[in-house]
Amino acid sequence: MSNTERRKAIRSLQSKRHIDLVPNMDCVERMYEIWASDVFDLPKMQGYLPAEVYNSLKETIETGKALNIDVADQVAEAMMEWAISKNARYYSHVFYPLTGNSAEKHDSFINISSQGGVIEHFSGKLLVRGEPDASSFPSGGIRSTFEARGYTAWDVTSPAYIMHTPNGATLCIPTAFVSWTGEALDKKTPLLRSDVALNKAAQRVLKILGHDNVDKVNSFCGPEQEYFLIDEALAALRPDILLTGRTLVGKSSAKGQEFGDHYFGVIPQRVQVFMQEVEDTLYRLGIPAKTRHNETAPAQYEIAPLFEVANVATDHQQLTVTVLRTVAKKHGFMCILHEKPFAGVNGSGKHINWSIGNKNQGNLFEPGETPQDNAQFLLFCAGVIRSVHKYGHLLRAVVASVSNDHRLGGHEAPPAIISMFLGEELTRVFGQIKDGALAPAQTKTTLHVGVDTLPKLPLDSADRNRTSPFAFTGNRFEFRSAGSSQSIAGPLVALNSAMAESLHYIADRLEQLLKELDLNAAIELVLKEIMVEHGKVVFNGNGYDPQWQIQAVQERSLANLPTAVEALPMLKSPEVVEMLSSLGVLSATELSSRFEIYAEHYIKSIEVEAKVLIEIVRTQVLPAAFKHLQQCALWLNEQPEMPSMESPLAKKIGAEAWLKYADIVNENQDYLQVHWLEMQNLTLLLQKSLRKLVDISEQNKDESLEKQMHYMVTKILPLQNEIRMVCDAIESEIPDDLWPLPTYSEMLWML
Ligand code: ADP
Ligand code: MG
Repeated sequence: MSNTERRKAIRSLQSKRHIDLVPNMDCVERMYEIWASDVFDLPKMQGYLPAEVYNSLKETIETGKALNIDVADQVAEAMMEWAISKNARYYSHVFYPLTGNSAEKHDSFINISSQGGVIEHFSGKLLVRGEPDASSFPSGGIRSTFEARGYTAWDVTSPAYIMHTPNGATLCIPTAFVSWTGEALDKKTPLLRSDVALNKAAQRVLKILGHDNVDKVNSFCGPEQEYFLIDEALAALRPDILLTGRTLVGKSSAKGQEFGDHYFGVIPQRVQVFMQEVEDTLYRLGIPAKTRHNETAPAQYEIAPLFEVANVATDHQQLTVTVLRTVAKKHGFMCILHEKPFAGVNGSGKHINWSIGNKNQGNLFEPGETPQDNAQFLLFCAGVIRSVHKYGHLLRAVVASVSNDHRLGGHEAPPAIISMFLGEELTRVFGQIKDGALAPAQTKTTLHVGVDTLPKLPLDSADRNRTSPFAFTGNRFEFRSAGSSQSIAGPLVALNSAMAESLHYIADRLEQLLKELDLNAAIELVLKEIMVEHGKVVFNGNGYDPQWQIQAVQERSLANLPTAVEALPMLKSPEVVEMLSSLGVLSATELSSRFEIYAEHYIKSIEVEAKVLIEIVRTQVLPAAFKHLQQCALWLNEQPEMPSMESPLAKKIGAEAWLKYADIVNENQDYLQVHWLEMQNLTLLLQKSLRKLVDISEQNKDESLEKQMHYMVTKILPLQNEIRMVCDAIESEIPDDLWPLPTYSEMLWML
C-alpha cells in the first residue's frame, strides 16, 4: 500500500489528544507572578541600576533623547547580571531584516582573564552596537558583498528579554539594522523614523489647536494574528506545506466551512493546551495576549494582544510568531502562517488596529465629549481620509506579497482596491461638511464644526462591515489587508508617514488661513477642502460586490492593483518617494532596494513552488496514478467471463435472471473501461502540463524584475493551477489506499 505512512501519521494523532489527562485543579501561578518575568523592564532596571543611571535611561526611553555611553556600560553590566540569573550564557542582537522574519546572531559573555580563566563580560559598546556579517541578507543593491557589514543598534525603547531552551537561555536585545552608510536594511529603522515624523507633524497641528502642553505623539497598534494548526505528522508528509507554506495540490474536503461551525466554536482541548502555553510564554515576555478563538476555516485560529506603542507592538508581534511556531512544534503541531494554505476555505490575515496619541491629549481618534475635542477629532480623522486616498497605492503596496495575492479580493478578505469605511454617522457629518450644509444633529443640538456647538458624536462603536480594507472602528482604524505572514512594520510605516504628510498639509493650510479667518472658520474650510478632494475614498458598502470594483475605478478613480505585480512598483512611484524621503523615513535608494528585494522574493517564491509541485507530481501523484492504471488493467483482464447461457449456473438461475446479470456484468465492464480511459487521459494530461512547466520555468531569467514578475503571474501561476486541477481530479478518482499525501479532510478536521 502507498499510504502506509499516511495511516501511521493518522494513528499517531490518537496519542496526542490529552484525553487521558486529568484537568489540573491546583492553582496555577497568578498572572502578575509571571508577567514580564523574562523581560528586563523598567521595574527590574530600577532594582539593578543606580538611581541616576536609571533616570537617564528612562528619559531616553520616554523622550527619545540620545543615550550616554557611560549609562550604556552600567546598563550592560546590570543586564548581564540579570540575564545570568536567568541561565543565560549568550546574548543576541535580534533584528528584523527585509525577509520579514526575525534574525539573531548569538555571542557568549565569555572573556579570558589574564590568568587564563574565564570571566563573564558585557559592555556598553557591545550592548549598543553589534556587527553581524550581513552579506547573505537581501539588501536590494544597497551593499555589495565586499562591503557586507551592516550593524545592529540597540533600540532602547523596546525592552530586552530572555528566550529559554531546555538547557539554557539567551538574552535577546531588539535592534535596528543599518548599513555602514546609514541606510536602513530592516523593518524597524523606518518604523522608528516614521514615528519621529508623525510626532513632529502632529505636534504642529495640536499647537495650532491651542495646546501648550504637548507630549510626544506615538502610534499604537493592536495586531490580530490568524493562523492554522495542523498535526505535524501529517505536515511532515506534505512537501508543499513544509517548503512553501501552502498546499499546491489537494482535493477539497467534502465538508468545509459552509456550516459556519468552526468560527467561535469550542476550542479543541489539544489546541487549548497549546494556546495556554503560548500565552503563558507571552506573559513572561511581557506581551499582553488578550483574545483567542476559533476562526472561520476549520483548523484556523486567532490570537490578539492588547494594543501597545507601535514599535513595541511590532517587536512583540514578531516574537509572538516565533513563540507560536516553537510551542506548536512542542505540541506536535505545525503552525501555518501562510495567507492561503488551503484552497476553498478562508485564508489568514493580520488585522492592524492603529491609532495615534499621547499622554496629554490621549487617543487622537477618540471622538470627544466637547465641541473643541470634536473639531480636533474631525481634523485628525480628515488627515486619515486624505492619507488613505492620496497614498492608497502605497497602502496596497505594503501588503503586497505572493502569498497575500491568494487572499485579497477573494470573498474572504478585502478587495485589492483601497477604500475606507467610516460608518453611517461619521459619513453623514463629513458629507455635510463637504456640502457646507451642516444639518442639526440627531441629538437636536445644532451641529457646527466651529467650536461652539458641536455635540458629542454618537458614533458606531464598532463596525460589522468586514469587507472594507480600512475601517473606522470607534476610536481607531483597522487595516485589514495585511497578510498573516507579513511583518506589521511596513503597513505601520505607511500609515504613520502618510498621516505625518497629511498633518503637515493641514498645519500649513491652517497657518495660511488663520491670517484671515478665525480658528473655527479655518478648520471648517480645511475639512471641507479635504472632503471635496479626498472624500471619494469613503465607501461604506459591500466591498465584495463586483459592482464596487467597477464603480471604484470608473467613477471614483481609485486604483485597482489586483496583484503584487501591479502593487509593488508603487514603492517607486514619484509621490511615494517624495513623501517618504522628504519626511526622512525612507530615501529613494532605500525604497528602490525594497522594491528589488520584495520583487525578487515574489519571483523566487513562485520558482520554489514550481519546483516543489514538479517534485510532488513526479514522485507522488504520477506514481500513484500509474499504479492505479496498472490496477485497472489487472481488474479488466481478470474479470471472469460471464458463464454461457448453456452453463449449469445459467440453467439454475433461469434465462431471465441470466440476462439481467449479463447486463450488469457488461455495465461494470463498461464502467471500468471508461474509468480506465479517463485515468489514462488525466495521467497523460498531467505529464504534458508537467513537461510544459519544467520547460517554461527555466525561461525569462534575464528580463527586468517587473517583467519576470509579470511572467510568473501570467505564465507560471496559471500552469500551476492547471496542474493542480488535474492532480485533484486524480485524487478524486483513485483508491484511497494508493494516495500518499495527507488529504484536506485529514489535515483540517482531525485535531
Ligand atoms: P475584532 O472585533 O476586530 O476581532 P479584537 O478584539 O480581536 O477585535 O482585536 C482588536 C484589537 O484592537 C486588539 O488588539 C485591541 O487591543 C486593539 N485596540 C483597541 N483599541 C485600540 C487603539 N486605540 N489603538 C490601537 N489598537 C487598539
Ligand atoms: Mg478579532
